[in-house]
Amino acid sequence: MLNNQGRPTSAGEAAAHAHPTFTGNRALIIEEALLFEIGRAETTGVDIPAPKAVKSRLGGQERKAPIGLVGLSEPETMRHFVRLSSKNYGIDTGLFPLGSCTMKHNPRLNEKMARLPGFADIHPLQPQSTVQGALELIEMLAHYLMTLTGTEAVAMSPKAGAHGELCGMMAIKAAIEAKGEGETRRVVLVPDSAHGTNPATAALIGFEVKPVPARADGTVHVKDVKKLLGPDVAAIMLTNPNTCGIFEPEIVEIARAMKKAGAYFYCDGANFNAIVGKAKPGDLGIDCMHINLHKTFSTPHGGGGPGAGPVVLSKRLAPFAPVPFIRRKGKRLELVEHVADAGKATPFGRITAFHGQMGMYVRALAYMLSHGADGMKQASEDAVLSANYIRAGLQDLMSVPFPKHPSMHEALFDDTWLKDTGVTTLDFAKAMIDEGYHPMTMYFPLIVHGAMLVEPTESESRASLDLFIMALRDLAMRAKRGETERFSGAPFHAPRRRLDETRAARNPILRWTPPRPIQQAAE
Ligand SMILES: *Cc1c(COP(=O)(O)O)cnc(C)c1O
Repeated sequence: MLNNQGRPTSAGEAAAHAHPTFTGNRALIIEEALLFEIGRAETTGVDIPAPKAVKSRLGGQERKAPIGLVGLSEPETMRHFVRLSSKNYGIDTGLFPLGSCTMKHNPRLNEKMARLPGFADIHPLQPQSTVQGALELIEMLAHYLMTLTGTEAVAMSPKAGAHGELCGMMAIKAAIEAKGEGETRRVVLVPDSAHGTNPATAALIGFEVKPVPARADGTVHVKDVKKLLGPDVAAIMLTNPNTCGIFEPEIVEIARAMKKAGAYFYCDGANFNAIVGKAKPGDLGIDCMHINLHKTFSTPHGGGGPGAGPVVLSKRLAPFAPVPFIRRKGKRLELVEHVADAGKATPFGRITAFHGQMGMYVRALAYMLSHGADGMKQASEDAVLSANYIRAGLQDLMSVPFPKHPSMHEALFDDTWLKDTGVTTLDFAKAMIDEGYHPMTMYFPLIVHGAMLVEPTESESRASLDLFIMALRDLAMRAKRGETERFSGAPFHAPRRRLDETRAARNPILRWTPPRPIQQAAE
């Protein structure tokens, strides 16, 4: 748009002058209806000849009415999905500062390797003699995971961090039962600052969760842990570096105390990306830890899956690792599929149908090999440097709840600085959308009031970090100047504005009801 002096106007000015359009579209921001709303059941884009009559072998189970799927031509279908995909904000779109989630770049080399037909086109039910290369790759990745963490074993099959937690806690449960203490050790200690998956995992397999109270400095103190230790405690689930972005200073003492009490140390390894190549969790005394390959080792997050969350195990938990696992037999590798074939080991069972996510294994190994030991160490250092750069660039305007501790891979702010401005953490996050950023993690960890957790990762250039800092400084100064309308109405430029999240949560519409014509066709 040109203004009357012939100068192009900014996007903000243009939006202020925008008129409603006939289609509801705004240039490249296109309204997209549901597939079921743009297609019709009675039309289809393909012509398939009517099938010859055959005798059904479904024993009366066959569908009696039309399925009611919509028919669309190929270009209509293509446009629908491409338009939807362009509404997504991803790491390939811009800086994605979600704390704890580690949204780092997914190198294209990883993708190229994962698409090699020898990895991409194999099937889990193929004879093992035909997939020796794939087994070798899984073995190699397992070896590096154990090397980087300083541990004795690794269960490769879990499909995500939370699934890895389940796997690790089941190994702990099996170890306790093997010692005949299954009836007495019923309690799992979980700090108040933990990710919600930790207490959920412990509760899911029948443990009683006892919170370790949060200290004012954002860390867990061995004194507080010792007060809760007794013959009834099975384990502690502790995140390190923790969810406040701080390296737990008393982690070694905590590990010793757990061991002395006959209990286990589950470490939530979601933040391993801060310390790869710098510290080995095994050396710190942990018993098991999941590794989110999609956080630390750059595999795609992929909308909740497909993920991979291998769990490394200490010597005392190694025998309880689930099947399947890989074993060397002479020159060949074999996948041990059944508990009865496990030899001296005593697997707790199985938690996935097959061996895990091959595509993610290939990507993670490609990341490791392309970085090398020095490169992975540098990635951790750069991630920590980026987070501290952001903290240093904002801390004169935004309050830092734990100023005494240096940040690891993420910078944590609270909402003290927003006091009396009439702007909340939520408002501030929504205003970031107008600036073209995905908001940071809000209101987590729960122990920090109005928390804002920013994790830039090592992927960002200095220029990208500078622009982000400037954008946030501009917003922060506007908040302090009392420009509340800029925040309470944000986002102004997104396809949708503020949604009624309370109503959506209280009154969710979980079922799509077909419009008339499709309903009739299905009857
Ligand atoms: C991400 C995360 C998890 C869960 O991992 P998923 O792979 O998302 O299941 C657990 N704990 C912490 C601290 C995390 O950041």
